[in-house]
Amino acid sequence: MDTPSYGTVDEAVLAGLRTIVGDARVLVDRDVMEPYSHDETVGVRGQPDVVVRADSAEQVSAIFRLAQRERIPVTPRGAGYGLSGGAVPALGGIVLSLEKMNRILEIDKANLMVTVEPGVITGDIHHAVEAEGLFYPPDPASLDSCTIGGNVAEGAGGPRAVKYGVTKDYVCGLEAVLPSGEIIEAGGKLVKNVTGYNLIQLLVGSEGTLAVVTKIILRLIPLPKVQVDLLVPFAKFQDAADAVSDIIAHRILPTAIEFMERDSILAVERLLQRDVPFHDAEAHLLIQLDGNTDEAVDADLEVVSERCLAHGAQDGLVARDRPTRDRLWEARRKIIESLRRESPISHMEDVVVPRAAIAVLLGGIREISRRHGVRIVSFGHAGDGNVHVNALKDDLPEARWSDVVPLLQADIYRLALSLGGTITGEHGIGSTRRAYLSMALDRHQIALQQGIRDVFDPNRILNPGKIFP
Ligand SMILES: Cc1cc2nc3c(=O)[nH]c(=O)nc-3n(C[C@H](O)[C@H](O)[C@H](O)COP(=O)(O)OP(=O)(O)OC[C@H]3O[C@@H](n4cnc5c(N)ncnc54)[C@H](O)[C@@H]3O)c2cc1C
Repeated sequence: MDTPSYGTVDEAVLAGLRTIVGDARVLVDRDVMEPYSHDETVGVRGQPDVVVRADSAEQVSAIFRLAQRERIPVTPRGAGYGLSGGAVPALGGIVLSLEKMNRILEIDKANLMVTVEPGVITGDIHHAVEAEGLFYPPDPASLDSCTIGGNVAEGAGGPRAVKYGVTKDYVCGLEAVLPSGEIIEAGGKLVKNVTGYNLIQLLVGSEGTLAVVTKIILRLIPLPKVQVDLLVPFAKFQDAADAVSDIIAHRILPTAIEFMERDSILAVERLLQRDVPFHDAEAHLLIQLDGNTDEAVDADLEVVSERCLAHGAQDGLVARDRPTRDRLWEARRKIIESLRRESPISHMEDVVVPRAAIAVLLGGIREISRRHGVRIVSFGHAGDGNVHVNALKDDLPEARWSDVVPLLQADIYRLALSLGGTITGEHGIGSTRRAYLSMALDRHQIALQQGIRDVFDPNRILNPGKIFP
């Protein structure tokens, strides 16, 4: 299908939107709409014609019916913390903000489920359920800012994926509004459910291209009573990677195993203007363990420490109380901010490989960095093979930067694919990776996926310009 032609947002459309959500929730002033013209993806921008803040599934439905009639693109938006341009309107039209739908509707302790609206900040769900002794494990590093609706749409991950999985592993039920305006409910407070196709998992990770999610039921588990963090420096990344494989081969599954290369630690030091422990080490592992008793966690800690020492760990810091643990994680959480401060123009990739291939991936990325003469700093999730690769423009001339980024992207993807991996582990395809989708999926899979989108959205009004080339 060729690119459809779209209608324009004229005074009649604005009047229709105001009737649906009220005057105060329709934004047209360019300055007020500025925050809605980008997300956290460097260099991706798109001007909405209007921003509408919906408050209910019924309002979302009415907005879709109007948009269908007038053939106006609709781009759903949570907090705009995405890293692939998904919430940025590629073709103008309506930005549909879910930020006002931010109520935690129920914490059901008997069924271990929480029901939320899509605009709830993910960290607020953590606090609310943890106060009841319950646990929602998915923890994107952006959790104090991003929304659960955005997490569902992106299939977001986070450091705890190694032990507890990612967003998709916790979604049991969804209410969603189809581009036709129909409201559907899929699943419920059910741990088991094989009734028909698994529409829930089709919507999770669909990047706001199939439907707008308006209610989410998430599975909870009991909150582990004890958590310990361990920071371990290594002289060589290969040693750190071998330690990770060895820990897991010893049947210990840490909650998180994060790695940071020296360049990322040094960037954080420059941002914080104070020393970060073991800053001379080539690689750091930040390992989190949890359990229900001190004895059980200490037994795991002993094995982890032994395995790290066996692979040349130079030292180690253990943190048991909350403030010390937060200090250890501060360096990891500040990496993106510190790199952006050093080079406001940068490009981030999010490739994933089988865990055991991570050292080869990092070696290959260093070779790509040398070959193209671009500084690249990597960090990420050693426990699940997901690496955040940051190419920094520094003082390269604009023209050289624009020429080199696509070459870097293609080389990094080729490398990850050659190791049995893929081109994005948690940030999504969005607009920044769509030109490369065919490197990862064959034409049959792309045609099948486009066919699915056309069933949901034959007129392609929902988030056009995303995922597909
Ligand atoms: C510093 C930083 C750290 C990060 N760390 C992680 C990490 O550890 N793991 C990780 O996975 N990601 C991470 N991210 C990326 C980002 O936080 C996630 O992708 C998050 O899920 C985005 O949520 P959001 O509410 O900001 O969504 P937005 O950016 O607003 O939207 C993201 C996508 O979801 C769609 N969407 C939003 N709400 C809905 C809805 N209700 N229904 C349908 N579609 C919707 C949008 O159209 C868009 O395609 C990080 C980002 C930053 C800036």
